[in-house]
Amino acid sequence: MSAFDDLYAANATFAKEFGTSDLTGRAARGLAVVTCMDSRIDPLGLLGLKPGDAKILRNAGARVTDDVLRTLVLAVYLLGVERVLVMAHTDCGMSKVTDDAVHDLTQSHGVDTRMLDFHTVPDQAAAMRHDLTRIRSTPFLPPGIPVAGAMYDVHTGLLSPYPD
Ligand SMILES: [Zn+2]
Repeated sequence: MSAFDDLYAANATFAKEFGTSDLTGRAARGLAVVTCMDSRIDPLGLLGLKPGDAKILRNAGARVTDDVLRTLVLAVYLLGVERVLVMAHTDCGMSKVTDDAVHDLTQSHGVDTRMLDFHTVPDQAAAMRHDLTRIRSTPFLPPGIPVAGAMYDVHTGLLSPYPD
């Protein structure tokens, strides 16, 4: 028994009905979505997408980190992405803590995390402005690539465009 047996069992069922796929790794709808790791978010479902349509980049807080920028560059030049949606959400755990609070918490477990930047989100509007600006101003993406922000309501399922 391993901690992952349930997953392999579920996959065996999945693969039986899967057949084969002709999808390539390119984003068929030309879309990349940057969103949070929150387990209530079903990025494909809530956007009317299916596997193959979009690149989904997830991390704590839907933050545009250096690694997200790196991935977007690859997604644009290699994998057909032509537009980027940054999708934050209501009730985000990252908006409820500060980096210092996380450091204190881990310290209480005997772990020093002060070399990590958690990119916590004390102000979601400010974080969204900052992250959209990061994508729009990077010299590594095509100028004028459509970039937008949106807020997903985890209680209603509704997505609202973020005012620019
Ligand atoms: Zn979140």
